[in-house]
Amino acid sequence: MKSDVQVAVIGGGIVGVSILYWLAKLGWTDTVLFERRELTSGSTWHAAGNTTYFGPYRKMTALFAGSIRTYLQAERESGQSVGFHQTGSLRLAATERELELFHAYAPRYATLGIPFHIRSPEDVAALHPFIDVSAIYGAAHTPTDGHVDPTGATNAMAQAARQLGASIERHCPIGAIKRDGRSWVLETPNGQVTARHVVVATSFWAREMLAPLGLNLPIYPTQHHEIVTESLPEIAALDKELPSIRDSWVSCNVRQEQDGLLIGIYEKRPEFWALDGIPPNFKEELLPPNLEPLMPHLERLMERMPLFADAGIKVVNNGPFAMTPDGLPLIGPMPNMEGLWLATGFNVGIGTGGGSAEILANWMTKGQSPKGLDAIRADRFGNDLDQEAALASIREVYARGYQLPDEI
Ligand SMILES: Cc1cc2nc3c(=O)[nH]c(=O)nc-3n(C[C@H](O)[C@H](O)[C@H](O)COP(=O)(O)OP(=O)(O)OC[C@H]3O[C@@H](n4cnc5c(N)ncnc54)[C@H](O)[C@@H]3O)c2cc1C
Repeated sequence: MKSDVQVAVIGGGIVGVSILYWLAKLGWTDTVLFERRELTSGSTWHAAGNTTYFGPYRKMTALFAGSIRTYLQAERESGQSVGFHQTGSLRLAATERELELFHAYAPRYATLGIPFHIRSPEDVAALHPFIDVSAIYGAAHTPTDGHVDPTGATNAMAQAARQLGASIERHCPIGAIKRDGRSWVLETPNGQVTARHVVVATSFWAREMLAPLGLNLPIYPTQHHEIVTESLPEIAALDKELPSIRDSWVSCNVRQEQDGLLIGIYEKRPEFWALDGIPPNFKEELLPPNLEPLMPHLERLMERMPLFADAGIKVVNNGPFAMTPDGLPLIGPMPNMEGLWLATGFNVGIGTGGGSAEILANWMTKGQSPKGLDAIRADRFGNDLDQEAALASIREVYARGYQLPDEI
């Protein structure tokens, strides 16, 4: 194991591995990534893998675009499939205002060169034959996005990063992190490691990990459900994969999973998990599902997509993921802690991980902070937000689901 490196990345989920990969692409290969267990053993392994280009925040759109590009680039370099399904996505307009906002977003997609179309209800019916379009105003259609296999994408980037000279230490949990002169010293089961830069990409573990340094990060593990249905003959009979949909009225996303459906739900009253500390014996297991709060959403989904009413439920997964009080990740340096960088608090880390890593790696290697991305800065919450206030904001953001902010 290397004991003195330029950069130590902590956390082997899609975000940490994306950073290791982008650092290597930009020429920083005196690096090592530490993972407590196997790569992807946090939230990454159970994610649905949705990677859409649609988003209400202008600058964040570039993070989404950069992610698919990153995964496909790593696939080419490593020969390891990232399982990209280019199904395209439909963001349904449940209100007239949503449709207006979609029109207002269109120019930014033109600037980024990402195909973006406003579709009428009739167009939506042609693209997705199972949606009842009678109550929608149309949709925003991004035909070139879709979903990836999160484990495949992580492994492809790990492989490509190793090919460039980066190292990965699995089954190597980091304990204490201490400052020593201009370096950081990390405790590992195999001895100490000294690093000029440390990137903390440990999702909801980051809060406890950095508390001894006096940091109060408002990142809390939040329960999130996804449902997979049995195969449906109507889907099996299709000759192409359905586009993913996102719907603010149902507050869910739905994509095709083999010949069935995979549904992710943002319920009105989210539950947190392990607020007193992540159990030290937590491996990567799922949490017991709780269907009752999901029922109003599933009932709406039966209206929006009557086919769902006929579907048997095959699996209900409840996994923890990281939430912050505004729902956005914490990315960048911590002030007054030279060399300490955060890349944590992601709740759409598959959709934004690769693009965020490209930005962070450029920031680290070239010393230039990105323009217009204050919304994701690591220090934006200050250090004094108490748990009650943070959880109240998270509840609100989560319950808002796919509702769009009114400003453009
Ligand atoms: C049911 C469900 C469905 C989802 N679907 C989607 C989706 O479709 N699209 C999307 O974009 N997002 C989705 N997400 C969210 C997505 O899973 C996360 O945003 C993403 O996986 C976060 O990646 P990460 O690398 O930040 O965290 P993680 O994957 O949690 O990685 C953090 C890593 O840090 C490691 N670690 C922790 N402590 C230490 C330590 N002391 N030393 C060393 N290593 C340590 C952990 O073992 C872990 O591997 C979903 C989440 C859930 C729960």
